[in-house]
Amino acid sequence: MNSAKKHYADGYLKATIDKRISYKTESQAPEQAAMLRTYLKDELETTLLRLGFICQIVDNPIEGKPPLLFAERHESDDSLTVLTYGHGDVVRGYDDQWSDNIDPWKLTVKGDKWYGRGTADNKGQHSINLAALEIVLKARDGHLGYNVKCLFETGEEIGSPGLRKYCELNSLQLKSDVFIASDGPRLSAGQPTIFLGSRGSVLFELTVNLRSGGLHSGNWGGLKRNPATILAGALASVVNHEGRILVKDLLPPAMSPSVKEALGKLSITDELMGLPIDTEWGEPSLSSAEKLLGWNTLEVLAFTAGNPANPVNAIPPHAKAFCQLRFVVGTRWQELEKILRTHLDQHGFACVDIKVQRGTAATRLDPDNAWVKWAEQSMKSAVGQDIAIMPNLGGTLPNDVFADVLGLPTLWIPHSYPGCAQHAADEHMLGSIADEGMQIMTSLFWDLGELHRDHLHTS
Ligand SMILES: [Zn+2]
Repeated sequence: MNSAKKHYADGYLKATIDKRISYKTESQAPEQAAMLRTYLKDELETTLLRLGFICQIVDNPIEGKPPLLFAERHESDDSLTVLTYGHGDVVRGYDDQWSDNIDPWKLTVKGDKWYGRGTADNKGQHSINLAALEIVLKARDGHLGYNVKCLFETGEEIGSPGLRKYCELNSLQLKSDVFIASDGPRLSAGQPTIFLGSRGSVLFELTVNLRSGGLHSGNWGGLKRNPATILAGALASVVNHEGRILVKDLLPPAMSPSVKEALGKLSITDELMGLPIDTEWGEPSLSSAEKLLGWNTLEVLAFTAGNPANPVNAIPPHAKAFCQLRFVVGTRWQELEKILRTHLDQHGFACVDIKVQRGTAATRLDPDNAWVKWAEQSMKSAVGQDIAIMPNLGGTLPNDVFADVLGLPTLWIPHSYPGCAQHAADEHMLGSIADEGMQIMTSLFWDLGELHRDHLHTS
């Protein structure tokens, strides 16, 4: 097995990723729409058919949105079923912005860095997983000992349109015992990581709109209310000057002992982040890991009144702030408008209007779940190193589709790292992580075949 893995990492994997990133699957570019289906058909379907899957490229349940691929490899009704996921689309190439004229549409290897659009997000990652599955299949003479279902979408970079609907409509077809997939970054390059969900995000606007035009500040200052001043006061009543959320109902419930324990093992340092952390910022008494992964933050993303490019001596007629709440499981984010309304009214800000734009739920599998222990053990045996277990990512993923709609325990095993420049020029994956990723996924896909179906149905 070891020589096979080495061979794959060195040769097959590089060649496969090189080929896959040559497809310009930019889901944000309407002119590449046909390429999304071509990638599913020529790359993923071809590979999956070779591995004994039955494949179906399906139209998006939302008209005009990009297609998906569902594939299934069924061995026995009595076996476990794993669902895996990936996305074939990438963000735009920004072709002229790459260092040293690197072509984003082919693999360029420089030292440990494998450059190319999609190497980290997500073609490189799902290529590792499919290659690992192939190794295990060969080593086991064509039998995995479990069933596999695959779902690939091609609209992740435009907000996964139709993914939730597809899963709602096809929940029986997608029924599985566990979800294992790879996307996003490790905690750091050197730390093999499992994350179990993601924080949620909800965007909202606060506006104060008092009149139709500005009023001369010499004639009216002191006599007429200033919307910008009122909005600044309203914001300060919600989140203070040290980044602490002051509205109790916008905070999560206390962290469970298992989450607290998992976060206690993660050290989020200046070195890890690549920038010094503002230690006085945010909820006092929490560690950096707890602030980032176990708590909520409220960010003011943009804030305007008057014309900042050309200020005049007038009381502006209105002011607007765009805000975001990043939140963990247990936060009453769906009641955001009601909670803010009550708070602002009680604090004398009845003239502040609230508009909640959109949100994505938070998810988190309990770090004490038997699947987590199993995966940690398998990964540890593969790389001989402690595994970082993140109860959830700080960022947001559509994981609620798998955790809530399909009701699956979700294990994300990322093969990227925070410095990968995903979504920018110079996106790359690290060869060392690809190599470790192959070992990790081979181990997980091997060990899964040794598990009895009922073994992990405890939590
Ligand atoms: Zn992305």
